[in-house]
This record gives sequence, C-alpha cells and structure tokens, in this order.
Amino acid sequence: MSWLIITQPTFLLSCPCLRRGKLVPAEAGSKKGGKLLLRIILGAMLLILLATQPGCKPRQLVRPTPQMDIEPQFWIKVLLLDNVTDCTLETTSPFSVTGIEPDPQTSTTQARFNSLEEPAKIDISAGRITIAGRSFTGDELIVYPDDPHIFSLNGDDYRGKLEFRINPDDRSFDVINLVPLEPYLAGVVGAEMPDYWEPEALKAQAIAARTYCLYIKNRFGNKRHWDVAKTQANQVYLGVKAESAQVWNAVNDTYGQVLVCKHPDGTEDIFPTYYSSICAGHTENSEHVFGDSFEPLVGVDCPYCKDVAKLGLFFWPMAQFDKTIVTTRLLQRYPKLKQLGEITNIVEAEKSDYGKFSRLTKVRLIGSDGKSDFLRAEDLRLTIDPTGQILKSTICRIFEWDNKWAFLSGRGWGHGVGMCQCGAQGLARQGKTTEQILSYYYPGSKIVRVY
Ligand SMILES: [Zn+2]
Repeated sequence: MSWLIITQPTFLLSCPCLRRGKLVPAEAGSKKGGKLLLRIILGAMLLILLATQPGCKPRQLVRPTPQMDIEPQFWIKVLLLDNVTDCTLETTSPFSVTGIEPDPQTSTTQARFNSLEEPAKIDISAGRITIAGRSFTGDELIVYPDDPHIFSLNGDDYRGKLEFRINPDDRSFDVINLVPLEPYLAGVVGAEMPDYWEPEALKAQAIAARTYCLYIKNRFGNKRHWDVAKTQANQVYLGVKAESAQVWNAVNDTYGQVLVCKHPDGTEDIFPTYYSSICAGHTENSEHVFGDSFEPLVGVDCPYCKDVAKLGLFFWPMAQFDKTIVTTRLLQRYPKLKQLGEITNIVEAEKSDYGKFSRLTKVRLIGSDGKSDFLRAEDLRLTIDPTGQILKSTICRIFEWDNKWAFLSGRGWGHGVGMCQCGAQGLARQGKTTEQILSYYYPGSKIVRVY
C-alpha cells in the first residue's frame, strides 16, 4: 500500500529556514567560546520559534483510509464526545456537510467547504449546529472529508466521517466517528498494545478487537445511535495517533478475520472476545464478571504474563478511598442501593480461588439501615474507581481503615476475562503463533474470515 504525504510538506530538518542556523560547539574559557555559547542559545531559541511556526510543522506520513466503500455493516460508529456544546474541527482536504444519510443516493449535500487548516469552531445555538460560522438545519449532520478522509477533532486525528447529533434538549450534541472497521482497528490495536510487541501478539490483539467490536455492534448498535465508546468501557480507540507500520501490518495481515465458537443453539458465531491487561496467573470465567456464558470464556491458567508485566503493575500498591465517596458513587450508579443508607460494610461474598491468589467476584454491601445487597466485584471496582487505574483489579483484600476502605494485596490489571494481553506477548516471545495464542486464551474457538 502506498504512503501519502499530508499536512505541511516540510520536514523539520529539511526546512529551508533552518539551514540558516549552523551550530558550532563552544570553546570553554575563551572569549570566542562565550560568543559561540551565545550563538548556541540564540540558535536554540530560533529552533523553538521555527518549530512552533505553522509552516515548519514536521510532515506526517499517513496512509490513505481503506474500506471507504465497504458495506454498511462493517462501518463502526464510535462515540467520541457526548453532551458537548462546542468543539473544533480541522481538515487538510475539502469536505461536504450533508444531512443524515440512510441512503447515499438520496442524501443531499448541504454545503461544501475548503480545507480548514486552522481549527474551526463548531457549536450549537437555538437548536442549530454552526460549522465555521455557517448554521445548518437538521438534528443530524455528517461531515465527509475528501481523500484521504482524515479530520481533526479537538486536535486529534481520525479517519472516515464525523456525525453531529443534537440531543433532545436542543442545547448539546454528541459527536460520532463513522469509520470502516479496519481503520477503526488500527486506532484500537495501537492504543491497546505497545506497537513494539511481537507481531504475533499484535495480530492476536487485532483479531480479538475485530471480533469484540462486531459483537458489541450487533448486540447494542441498533438500540443506540453509536456502536462503541472510545474508552476502556469498550476498547480504547485513539484514531490516527495510535497507528504505526507495525499496527497496520497486524490489522492487514488479519484482514476480515474473527473468532467464532459454538453457541447453545448449535450455530457457529462470534462471541464477546473480552481481553484485559494482566490476569496475574489465571483468567476469569466471564459468567462471574459480565454474567454471560460462552465456552471459550471459562478461564485458563496463565503463567505467561508475570515475565512481561512490570512488577509495579503485576503487584499494585494499596488503594484507599473515603467511605463517603464510596457510598456516594455507589448510590449514584445503583439507585436501588439507596434503601441501604450509608454503606457501613463491604463483605467478600464469592471468589474464584486459584491457590496462590483468589479473585473476588461478588460482594455483599451492608448499609446503616441494617439491609444488605449484592454487587459483582468488578462493578464495585469500576464504580469506586471509574478509571481503573488505581483499583486495578478485584484480586485484592478489602479492609476497613478508619474512615476509608483499603484494598490490599492487589495483583493484576483489568477484569481478567478472555485473552491476557501481557500473557499473549509472553506466548509470542516463546514463538507461539497468533492462532495458538488465541486458541489458548479462547479454548474451543476458531478463526474464520468474514470478508
Ligand atoms: Zn496472564
């Protein structure tokens, strides 16, 4: 596939305006050295100044966006922003603005714009969206940049098209990236795994991400106006900045490949190929974490992530949270818990015991009113710490410590279901193939190609 040069065609080192500044090493202790030092300082200042000039941006090598003509079921709607009142847009190519396009044949272009080399504001006023000073009718607008089909939203580059959708309150809007599956995956694989990892691990990641995305789209996409979130709530998507040659190789080498397994009705179909960062020794049964049951998701032994994961992540330090914050977050997310009053105790109710450690799967919450209720441990974790960065897993012990809840003896990162990403890298280092890695973490599954 050929590479395409976009944005400014000047590379920093070949920028003509830089050739004027020639740097010479300083001679210490001499007058001449002092002058030279001054020159170096001035030269450095000049470099900084030039680097910040728009005409001297380093050029970016960007691949054309593939699959722009693919069938609608392989386009992914990624929620980029929700309930916002403004944002900025840049494009290096001209673009069209149209109404929502159920049928491209009947969709009419409302406006054509030239490229927006500087960020243009998009906001909402009296229920109408304004793009670069032009106001549009309609609750849904599509921005469709010409080739190479790349735009920048709030400074981040994405591929495909952009949808603006006014919310029922007429005061805010959601922003959705409409992107074909393969370029979507390039923005996921490079965000979910370091691109210097083994090619076989990156390919396993690409197949797992492709399958997961299609499963979530099929299951939830027709109930809402987007398919997946751009965060770890689904899978992390960073758009063009996550891409690299290694990432694109992983996506292209597995083009159209997904994992399937036998479903209870006897058919072979895709399943939710969950994956997480560090399982810490054993992956978890999906039924205990997400409540769904599939043969490949029962959990397997994993001695492979320990040698790959950083020690400070494999074993994480004590996490602690104020009791009042824990109660507030729980009652906000689960209004049914309001009947408990203040949460006065959190008791381990169920866990998966793996010998050296156990993963907490269910807790009993006891309230100041004497009532109690149950919650999945993973739901407790992500309610207390929605980022998942501090309370990294449910492999931990819960203690009451004055006015705080403390989480001790923590290990692993993520929910632990499906492929262990560090484990996949460990297996790839041992020379295992993509197929071997996937059949290890999703036993009973097989790879098929859907397009
Ligand atoms: Zn593991």
